[in-house]
Amino acid sequence: MSLSKVLPDEKVVVLGSHSGRNRYKDVAIRVLHGMGAAVSYVEVDNPHRIAASALPSLGAAALLVDLTHSHDPVIRQLGRDGLRTLVAVETPEILLRMLPQESDKARVQHAQNCIRAAKTMRVTSPAGTDFEVALGELSGNCQYGFSDEPGHWDQCPGAFVVTHSNDHSAQGTVVIDAGDIMFPQKEYVNTPITLRLENGYIAAIEGGSDAKLMKATLDAYRNPEVFAVSHLGWGLSRNSRWDALNFFDKAEIEGQDGRGHLGNFLFSTGPNLSGGGTRRAPMHLDIPLAGCSVFLDGKPMVLDGDVVCPEQRPN
Ligand code: FE
Repeated sequence: MSLSKVLPDEKVVVLGSHSGRNRYKDVAIRVLHGMGAAVSYVEVDNPHRIAASALPSLGAAALLVDLTHSHDPVIRQLGRDGLRTLVAVETPEILLRMLPQESDKARVQHAQNCIRAAKTMRVTSPAGTDFEVALGELSGNCQYGFSDEPGHWDQCPGAFVVTHSNDHSAQGTVVIDAGDIMFPQKEYVNTPITLRLENGYIAAIEGGSDAKLMKATLDAYRNPEVFAVSHLGWGLSRNSRWDALNFFDKAEIEGQDGRGHLGNFLFSTGPNLSGGGTRRAPMHLDIPLAGCSVFLDGKPMVLDGDVVCPEQRPN
């Protein structure tokens, strides 16, 4: 809350869900109250379709502490009017281990500036990934674990940067290797999956049992847009653990360890609305890959899973 620069008398809404865990309800209210904020708690029936009756409270807030990880587009809309949002859903152990520091913002913004200046992104890996996309037409976003600026949406505690590629530009091969991660399944891949990318879409999914499963998942939507390439980027978190999924019940965690793992490459599929595009898709896979190299206009950002730029490495 201090990194999110909560001020005395600032209007803060803590958002909970009627059927949800609301894990940090009491502690968030207590801490915010202690900081002198004008805090209220709003509990909604469905956080992904927030009822109109709750919107005046959210609209009046300067900061929303979202204990539900709402995917309602109204949250981003309110962000355009200046609402800061901070999602907090991970377990206390993960929050504590990966606790953000103020310097994380500069690291993430360095990565974001590198992406904004680039025209191409190429990704390779020893497993066989080699693909390229064009950049510049759509935007991206980043998170550093706190929300200190008007309009900024973030989630505690992970850090990463992503962007959207120009529509129809992705060409090449992505190999999701054994040990890489699939979200929202929250599963490690056991058998490598080869994706053939053509004109921004997955044209073929090849491999063994995990390729079959991934194909079945995407085919189930009967919508070609679920095969599109979505946001792309790399992880910048401190103290994240690649093996975390092995140690928590799936329902207990969101996956900040894998999604934001330092030096991962985050491949994803489906929509590009969050980057300013027009593509809607009913399914979105986040797929962190280990050990990749990421190049912007030929300049390495990540080499074999190591973040190269000293400005982006945690101290
Ligand atoms: Fe995603």
